[in-house]
Amino acid sequence: MMYKHGLIWLRRDLRLVDNQALNQAAACSQQMSVVFVLDTCILQSLPPTDQRVAFIMDAIRDIHADLVAQGSGLIVVHGDPVVAIPAIVQELGVDAVFFNRDYEPYAVKRDAMVMERVGVPVHTAKDTVIFESNEVLSKTGTTYKVYTPYKNQWLREFSSRPVVPLGELSQPVWASIPEGVTVYSDNWYSRLGFTNRQAFLPGGRKPALARMAQWASRMGGYHTYRDIPSLAHTSMLSPYIRFGCVSIRELVAMAWRYKGDAGADVWLSELIWRDFYQMIVATHPQCDRQSIKPEYDAIPWEGRSEWFDAWSAGQTGYPIVDAAMRQLNTTGLMHNRCRMIVASFLCKTLLVDWRRGEAYFAEKLLDFDFASNNGGWGWASSSGCDAQPYFRIFNPTLQSQKFDPDGHYIRQYCPELAGLNAKQIHAPQGVLAYPEPIVDYADMRQRALVLFSHYVKQTA
Ligand SMILES: Cc1cc2nc3c(=O)[nH]c(=O)nc-3n(C[C@H](O)[C@H](O)[C@H](O)COP(=O)(O)OP(=O)(O)OC[C@H]3O[C@@H](n4cnc5c(N)ncnc54)[C@H](O)[C@@H]3O)c2cc1C
Repeated sequence: MMYKHGLIWLRRDLRLVDNQALNQAAACSQQMSVVFVLDTCILQSLPPTDQRVAFIMDAIRDIHADLVAQGSGLIVVHGDPVVAIPAIVQELGVDAVFFNRDYEPYAVKRDAMVMERVGVPVHTAKDTVIFESNEVLSKTGTTYKVYTPYKNQWLREFSSRPVVPLGELSQPVWASIPEGVTVYSDNWYSRLGFTNRQAFLPGGRKPALARMAQWASRMGGYHTYRDIPSLAHTSMLSPYIRFGCVSIRELVAMAWRYKGDAGADVWLSELIWRDFYQMIVATHPQCDRQSIKPEYDAIPWEGRSEWFDAWSAGQTGYPIVDAAMRQLNTTGLMHNRCRMIVASFLCKTLLVDWRRGEAYFAEKLLDFDFASNNGGWGWASSSGCDAQPYFRIFNPTLQSQKFDPDGHYIRQYCPELAGLNAKQIHAPQGVLAYPEPIVDYADMRQRALVLFSHYVKQTA
């Protein structure tokens, strides 16, 4: 089938290279246009300072510039995609729409409505993951609930049919932009009412490729240093992965090139965790409302509202927790080890419903990804797939001593503790500018065990 004019709808795949939907469109369209929707359903709930908008704007500005250089431009519309996509299809007179599949509950519903209303053929492609939920199955044909067998099967599948990057498109034909159709412009910032023009990391493909190249030379030490937040020895590629400035194929191919190296192998397993959580979300669409293990929804969370406020402000009196929350609040990022510590602290020490933490992360994270966030909170609260058992409760002081032994990370984000030595800094006493612990960890651990054991039937 050859179309006269294909429309590519970019969403979480902000690049023109190695993009499955785009390649599919190029293969069967005489000419192509590209659209990005500034989605009112998402944007209306964001504060004006939200840095993800700046990150996205960087990325779409560069895409627009690339398209202008090739005689076209990036069409940008502001509205509900369910209305905006059918409208732009009509306005341009395109005869097919192409986009990459998104497995988040909101996106699945949105895309179904767009497909119903758009009035022309829609072609969707796999792009966000290496393997979709029906591609990594157990011997009995079921989806996995546990990561390690999933990973082993994932690796078997990948070894037998490696997924490779698609490379540059050869001579795509872009349609010119008709009069009256809006394209990207810097004015979008003020039109949308967002004030933060610079994200903690710049968005777009160029910085993503630079970071990837840098990471290729550091990946070797990942297995040794990845848990030490002060070393920041992780790729920091997550926002670029989230918004698709690089493709997951490019990243997996990079790790695969160094296969056998311990750092590269562990890093690849993290990318597989990402596929695992995308699969979990695709197969548990109710996870935006319910715990995957339903017994967790019966727990009467006892945590006080002021404890949640202290947690979110980085004022709990537990330095590793406070440093991590302040990192999140000031940069939009948080080291993975610290995400695990603060998540455990919120739901198993402060006994606050994990969904409040999930929502706070969703609001603040530059790399916010529904599947990884939901999976991470499910893991920490024990309510998700392949989660840690409810009776594993992180002791924040021991975690701090183990993973930030000299207190470098704590000093970076809690300057009022900078004068303490490596022994004092994990459990400071009598520092006037720093809060006393808001709860007693040992007491709360006992309370948590009683509460969880009452509602949850689980063995080690
Ligand atoms: C409570 C909680 C919430 C989280 N929320 C998010 C989120 O919203 N968005 C997000 O991208 N990650 C999330 N993670 C996973 C992880 O913390 C981040 O992916 C990681 O810290 C990003 O830093 P990096 O790019 O340097 O990672 P690296 O260590 O360099 O890992 C490379 C990539 O692998 C993927 N990855 C790594 N660890 C995980 C993991 N545990 N689960 C899924 N994918 C992983 C990410 O895409 C990451 O960029 C969460 C983890 C927890 C415990």
